[in-house]
Amino acid sequence: MHLQPGGNETVVFLLPFPDVAQISEYVISVYRPYWILRTETTTCSQKMAGRKVLIIYAHQEPKSLNGSLKDAAVEELGKQGCSVTVSDLYAMQFEPRATRNDIVGCLHNSEEFNYGVEAREAYKRGDLSDDLIEEQKKVQEADLLIFQFPLYWFSMPAIMKGWMDRVLVEGFAHEFPDCYGSGLLKNKLALFSFTTGGSKEMYTKGSISGDIRYLLWPMQHGIMHYCGVKVLAPHICFAPEYVSEEKRKEMLLAWAQRLKSLWKEEPINCSPEWYFE
Ligand SMILES: Cc1cc2nc3c(=O)[nH]c(=O)nc-3n(C[C@H](O)[C@H](O)[C@H](O)COP(=O)(O)OP(=O)(O)OC[C@H]3O[C@@H](n4cnc5c(N)ncnc54)[C@H](O)[C@@H]3O)c2cc1C
Repeated sequence: MHLQPGGNETVVFLLPFPDVAQISEYVISVYRPYWILRTETTTCSQKMAGRKVLIIYAHQEPKSLNGSLKDAAVEELGKQGCSVTVSDLYAMQFEPRATRNDIVGCLHNSEEFNYGVEAREAYKRGDLSDDLIEEQKKVQEADLLIFQFPLYWFSMPAIMKGWMDRVLVEGFAHEFPDCYGSGLLKNKLALFSFTTGGSKEMYTKGSISGDIRYLLWPMQHGIMHYCGVKVLAPHICFAPEYVSEEKRKEMLLAWAQRLKSLWKEEPINCSPEWYFE
């Protein structure tokens, strides 16, 4: 009889062995490789399927390279069985300004407005504006946050910075001393995927723009790590406007390729050394 791995056959042993221990040994020796194979396959696909990814995307033009990078991520992660949500900030006309309008109803202190305090108290009362509650729900559900954007003045576009300012409210994302390692969004991952105008050579230590890692300190460390989120290595497409069509296609393929094994990646070591040494 030929036994298939994963098959449902009932096996009757007709006494080739005198005792149960020998039968067990035989079964283990024959089936062990299949069990291992099956367990590994299941674990690997389970790791990806059912994972929730939130892509926070900031580009005005769907045909831009950022648009294509976002589409590639939606496609690849979808293929893996992940549930992918996109917050397309420009299309949503996301409000980047942190103002009094974010608090519904009465203020905690109507004499002197303090945005941080009012947002924290409104969060506790469930009195933040609907757009913030919606974004916080998406963050809460996500295992991974991908930020996709073009580099603007060594940082993210204002609309995305506004998302950080307004969504990552005290009490929801952090609450001193619950920050960094014990930030309230621990157990989540973040990845900054962005494009630049400058070339890779310009963004090396000692060159005119300095090491690209210097720019990542405020975004990765000051925001994400502060909220407890573990950060995966950034994905950077340098100077897409100044390279050939073929090179841009390679950039998109490299991104899709990286996403295939993303869940096996270890977060970066969140220390000043990673950024500045
Ligand atoms: C306010 C501002 C501040 C800036 N500050 C900085 C800064 O500090 N440092 C810096 O380095 N840069 C800076 N830049 C430049 C900016 O980062 C780049 O212009 C941007 O990153 C380019 O990305 P993109 O998606 O907009 O490119 P796009 O111009 O949209 O894309 C490049 C090309 O890719 C093509 N493309 C799209 N999809 C595909 C596809 N599937 N296959 C092949 N080709 C495709 C597009 O058609 C286009 O021709 C700044 C720009 C602005 C406006």
